[in-house]
Amino acid sequence: MGTKTGRHFLQIPGPTNVPDRILRAMSRPTIDHRGPEFGRMAREVIEGLQKVLKTSGAVVIYPSSGTGAWEAALVNTLSPGDKVLMFETGHFATLWKNMAARLGLAVDFVPGDWRHGVDPEIVEAKLAEDKGRAIKAVAMVHNETSTGVTSRVAEVRIGVDRTGHPALLMVDTISSLASIDYRHDEWGVDVTVGCSQKGLMLPPGLGLNAVSEKALAASTSARLGRSYWDWEPMIKDSKAGFFPYTPATNLLYGLREAIRMLVEEGLENVFARHDRHAEATRRAVQAWGLDLVCQNPAEYSSSLTAVMMPDGHDADALRKVILERFDLSLGTGLGKLKGRAFRIGHLGDFNDLMLAGTLSGVEMGLAIAGVPSSRGGVAAALDFLSSK
Ligand SMILES: *Cc1c(COP(=O)(O)O)cnc(C)c1O
Repeated sequence: MGTKTGRHFLQIPGPTNVPDRILRAMSRPTIDHRGPEFGRMAREVIEGLQKVLKTSGAVVIYPSSGTGAWEAALVNTLSPGDKVLMFETGHFATLWKNMAARLGLAVDFVPGDWRHGVDPEIVEAKLAEDKGRAIKAVAMVHNETSTGVTSRVAEVRIGVDRTGHPALLMVDTISSLASIDYRHDEWGVDVTVGCSQKGLMLPPGLGLNAVSEKALAASTSARLGRSYWDWEPMIKDSKAGFFPYTPATNLLYGLREAIRMLVEEGLENVFARHDRHAEATRRAVQAWGLDLVCQNPAEYSSSLTAVMMPDGHDADALRKVILERFDLSLGTGLGKLKGRAFRIGHLGDFNDLMLAGTLSGVEMGLAIAGVPSSRGGVAAALDFLSSK
């Protein structure tokens, strides 16, 4: 590999490209996190996150990865042995399930084929069957980043409501927040889990929870051990813009800038931009003659596209060629899709020409790696992008 010139293309579905505006906002002196300037900044950030999450309730921000925010959701609301309903939509759903089991929860893990989202009818049937109200929480991943499948949270909520079941609804919105429409309050979500390095366009390092009144009430009797993740001191101190322990000050500068950028563009426009890039990408995949991992058009993800490799061809060998030749990083196949699929991230700070460059790298890589496929994917995407 020779010397690298020009920009690296970071097209994994998180961490995403961090815009220069955010990098500049973060490159400021770290201030006293107990002083007045910090308090004003943190309050602006929390109010901004409420807009992005579409909630008027509490938002808790941790110096953590998304995995930490998963743990916070569980340990603040549940007790040892509590039954939790979860769904095998892919790798991230499986990891969250494993965590719940390790924490001592009794998980009913509904099997899945990694090509479909959560089936709202199954949720409804499972809750309707649960006459003794043993299930304490339903936990799902909104956008399954390993498969490019977006589950229909609003429909799940309707199914839950029809049963009158009191289970909490928890949703991982890590790779959908600020990329795909998400409504914490309207969809009656009790705990939303998010983090910084995907649609929020920040480096890794912030995890977050949005918390409903019902989840707060559950936290007063939840008995799983918790200390670092405890919502109570976080929520109490956050009213004045403070944290019980040292926050990630410079990431919060970045988050403030990210929220300003999202508000300037308008969330609806942000979502439409992601939908458009996802559609262009799918047209390219179709022209190449390759299959999407996602098999239900109603569940196509707008933040990433996962592509199946033809039998006998290794996705990681293709990714290696593309990285070495074109300095373009694509997402690897995770878990059961290891070697069998690759993922194109098109979320966050992104535009038409970045997508055109990304798809060009994939199309050339397919040819160089000898993967049976047609040309014309880039042309199909450009036709779509220039038609409106
Ligand atoms: C990235 C991701 C996670 C894990 O987040 P980390 O920051 O790596 O802990 C969890 N769920 C989904 C859907 C993700 O995309």
